[in-house]
Amino acid sequence: MKAVLPALFLAIISVTAVFAKGGPAINEKCPVDGKTVRIIYRVFTDAGTVAFCCVDCMESYKTSPSRYTVTPKPGK
Ligand SMILES: [Zn+2]
Repeated sequence: MKAVLPALFLAIISVTAVFAKGGPAINEKCPVDGKTVRIIYRVFTDAGTVAFCCVDCMESYKTSPSRYTVTPKPGK
């Protein structure tokens, strides 16, 4: 049990770090293949936080952002 607690603590810190920065994604659909995004896969751009459906799409976008069009989700 003593070994479990530090690991749990580290996991919580990691999750907090992921969500603390950048704010919500500006898009709902992956700019690479159009699937619904998951916020854990994201890149910070001048336009805001761009999210992706998977790590492969995120890497593709990072390699050449100009190839993809980010469609912002409808405004409220
Ligand atoms: Zn994708």
